[in-house]
Amino acid sequence: MKELVLFAPAKVNLCLSVLGKRSDGYHDVEMLMQAVGLYDRVSVREAQGGISVTCDAAGVPVGEGNIAYRAARAVLDRSRPGMGLSITINKNIPVAAGLGGGSSDAAAVLVACNVLTGGLLSRAQLAEIGTGLGMDVPFFLHGPTAIARGRGEVLETLPPPPLFWVLLVNPGFETSTAWVYKNLNLRLTKKVDCNKIARLKVGQLAQSLHNDLETVTAPAHPVIGEMEQALRDAGALGARMSGSGPTVFGIFETEAACRTAAERIGSRGWKVFPAPVVTEPLYGEYLRSTP
Ligand code: ATP
Repeated sequence: MKELVLFAPAKVNLCLSVLGKRSDGYHDVEMLMQAVGLYDRVSVREAQGGISVTCDAAGVPVGEGNIAYRAARAVLDRSRPGMGLSITINKNIPVAAGLGGGSSDAAAVLVACNVLTGGLLSRAQLAEIGTGLGMDVPFFLHGPTAIARGRGEVLETLPPPPLFWVLLVNPGFETSTAWVYKNLNLRLTKKVDCNKIARLKVGQLAQSLHNDLETVTAPAHPVIGEMEQALRDAGALGARMSGSGPTVFGIFETEAACRTAAERIGSRGWKVFPAPVVTEPLYGEYLRSTP
């Protein structure tokens, strides 16, 4: 029986601008997204009959409720409908935290299923399936660095930045992306040009981090501002919330500075994850040959 183990990274939004509301109910966004080295382990193994999904994180659905199940089903339906798969997810990425963990697991499963079924689908076809699963899924097929536009599904891959480190700080509760967008007041958003930020060196980049969704989460959860301040006090060049939160991240030039800050901030009871930015193409050996 064939098995493929992939490591699905988290992402941070170095810039997140909400440009307006669309007639289909979604928002038009522009996001500068960066994969970071905090990984879920995703194992996809050929098995007898049907698709099974197990996951070791409390509160994450197993079986059909897991986004990984829907990803596998979609690939098998297009290539080998009768094939059975056993999927095991070991989660390290905090759940419903603005780090894209579920979307990243789904992207890893799309890639693994495609490989196990003979690689019939192109990157573009996998990304199209991904869009139907979650708006962050296509990013994880185009990373490590990309600008996402439209609802988040129109991707432009950018050259990765020179290596720097981020410290992810998570307060231990979840936020709902739907709730954040529902409460967004577009008159309060700044609609920053994320493309400009993408071209900055790390020092300036850190000073220019932007997230329009903080206009909703920061007033509702004062701890977000406190974590950002703690990061700056611990030496971060800049700090911002990722996605719809509540995780915030700080930027550090060196691993040593990042780990020193992790020790200091971790002592306040928040969960801390030091991670380098990912600078290699995601799933390069499995996706390179496809358009
Ligand atoms: P985003 O930043 O893309 O909005 P997020 O990081 O805030 O995503 P996720 O961790 O992807 O949020 O979780 C969102 C919801 O999806 C959770 O309520 C969770 O129960 C559900 N879910 C389904 N499958 C998974 C999975 N494999 N990993 C994490 N969450 C999953």
